[in-house]
Amino acid sequence: MGGDLSRRDMMIGAGAATAVGLIGGLRGADAFAAAAQEGARGLYMHKLPPLSYPADALEPVIDKKTVEIHHGKHFAAYVTGLNATIEKLQKAREGGDFSAIKALSRDLAFHGSGVVLHWIYFETIGPGAGGAPGGKVGEQINKDFGSFEIFWKQFAAASKAVEASGWGVLAWEPFSKTLVVMQAEKHQNLTSWGVMPIMVCDVWEHAYYLKYQNRRDEYVDNFLKIINWKKVDELFRKFCLKG
Ligand code: MN
Repeated sequence: MGGDLSRRDMMIGAGAATAVGLIGGLRGADAFAAAAQEGARGLYMHKLPPLSYPADALEPVIDKKTVEIHHGKHFAAYVTGLNATIEKLQKAREGGDFSAIKALSRDLAFHGSGVVLHWIYFETIGPGAGGAPGGKVGEQINKDFGSFEIFWKQFAAASKAVEASGWGVLAWEPFSKTLVVMQAEKHQNLTSWGVMPIMVCDVWEHAYYLKYQNRRDEYVDNFLKIINWKKVDELFRKFCLKG
């Protein structure tokens, strides 16, 4: 019996470690330092990474108020939600009570994905950006999509067509070593296991509604002007090309 319990504990602990390990990896990359702190009992607790540019730096594509609320309230809420979930999972392990595991597993996926995607979103957009990608990621886009223009048509179409709240995602698929364009519903649905997102377009209404209202297409078209491809290339080289 005791053996069963400890094995189950280890299995769940490993699952949480896998999901959180990605973020630990992000923290380790100096240029993309997502601030974190050690919580009680050595748990990895997340902190909201500061914006690396002023809130009005994305205007006119995204207005200052939207950036302030999106980063300071929505992104912050996912960080809080993820930390609360991590603590609840630890309490469940300590108490041997996994009666809430279904909801906790769902929260780990939702808030964990929300933290990762918002971190990539705010890190890979910025002022003085836009245009076409160079570097390794530019080469890979040409290889896997034929050209940047074809890639962007697919990415924009995918982002515009997300049902309800979600994301357009450019991700590295490590098994085939190719870039893929995906959609995410909410934050965690429609992914393919193992992919690493490197550029994302948030199409939840909170990302654009103050300025664009129902005109999501216009927001996505303008989003191209604020993608910082140097940051995307940095992310691609650090997390996708290593090894
Ligand atoms: Mn968002």
